[in-house]
Amino acid sequence: MERLDQRLAELDAKGLRRRLRTLVGPQGPHVNLGGKRVLLLCSNNYLGLTAHHSVLAAGAAAAERWGSGAGSSRLISGTMEPHLALERALAEFHGYESSLIFGSGYLANLGVISTLVGPGDLVCSDRLNHASIVDGCRLSGAEKRIFRHRDLAHLESILASAQARAADRTLIVSDGVFSMDGDVAPIAALLELARRYDAMLMIDDAHGVGSLGPGGRGAVAEAALGGEVDIITGTLGKALAGYGAYACCSDRMRELLINSARSFIFSTAPPPPAVAAAHAALDTIRSRPDLVRKLGENAAVLRESLIDCGLAIGDSRTQIIPLLVGSATRAVAACELALSHGVYAQAIRPPTVPEGTSRLRLSVMASHRAEELREAAAVIADAIATTAEPTTAIALGTPIADAA
Ligand SMILES: *Cc1c(COP(=O)(O)O)cnc(C)c1O
Repeated sequence: MERLDQRLAELDAKGLRRRLRTLVGPQGPHVNLGGKRVLLLCSNNYLGLTAHHSVLAAGAAAAERWGSGAGSSRLISGTMEPHLALERALAEFHGYESSLIFGSGYLANLGVISTLVGPGDLVCSDRLNHASIVDGCRLSGAEKRIFRHRDLAHLESILASAQARAADRTLIVSDGVFSMDGDVAPIAALLELARRYDAMLMIDDAHGVGSLGPGGRGAVAEAALGGEVDIITGTLGKALAGYGAYACCSDRMRELLINSARSFIFSTAPPPPAVAAAHAALDTIRSRPDLVRKLGENAAVLRESLIDCGLAIGDSRTQIIPLLVGSATRAVAACELALSHGVYAQAIRPPTVPEGTSRLRLSVMASHRAEELREAAAVIADAIATTAEPTTAIALGTPIADAA
């Protein structure tokens, strides 16, 4: 018991103790946080579809028709028509032969990476990739090399090394839109390197879907490489307003995943209501391109307002906007101060981001109003200025030893 207390006290001392905040009511552009109405600037519900009438109706109807849960893993008795219908729709949406639904994006990345590579193989991973990719690389048992963030020359030097030539198979893996920085991977150049060095390319498009590319088809579609990138993963939990995730790939790859991705085999299938809700959200994205456009417009309004307030937004060109403040303690102080003025922008600290790059990570929704985003920018700029500490300059993407 004492040891647990000590570990928690250590987290407190470093400003790294995390606490859960509870929403009282549904999640929209504003939320009720413990009785107080605040502007929500830290949800991945980018298009606001968790409250859309057709999404809610589809979820409720699926609960009536298929039940509250799948009751089993996909390979036993957990595969139901809603799973297969959504897999067909997702494959078509992204321009792939096939897709396969997993329990979550975290599980999809574990399962896909450890299916694509194993001991004797090599995996090259961007330094700022999502934690689920980092864990997937570890789990795979493949040799892992981290390349500097979006640094193609560094990646190429790894691919040209003797180590790469000795590997049986090589995988390059990258976020499409980087989840804590809002910048976008150089997907076309990554694919060119992959082809030249006989490597596979995997892109995790968790944040691109619903925001980038024609009709919100994602960062891979924006690069016009749907069906070309060997495999993409995406989540049903963000713009798609449900829970679960998927991989898009070839038919043969889908067969292999079904037979060897342990996070697919040994975990219960996603509940039919969550799957049906995500399917309705996908249909809504297709029928309402104006929502995707509005998200882009809102993101531009917030980015410009923050810049007008004197803040730096890194290389973000999306709805994810990082405001670096440096230390974890300061990020938490700025977050609390903004919250007390009615703006909820979560502080993000190590190990989610590298040491010294704690930040407020803002995310915009299509359902925000431009005016409230402009006001929020001023509140946040004030909060950051008020909590200023004498600090050295911080660069985005600052490396840390065990970033991956
Ligand atoms: C959120 C996220 C995941 C995990 O998806 P879940 O469905 O929430 O488990 C994976 N990759 C990236 C880049 C993410 O941002």
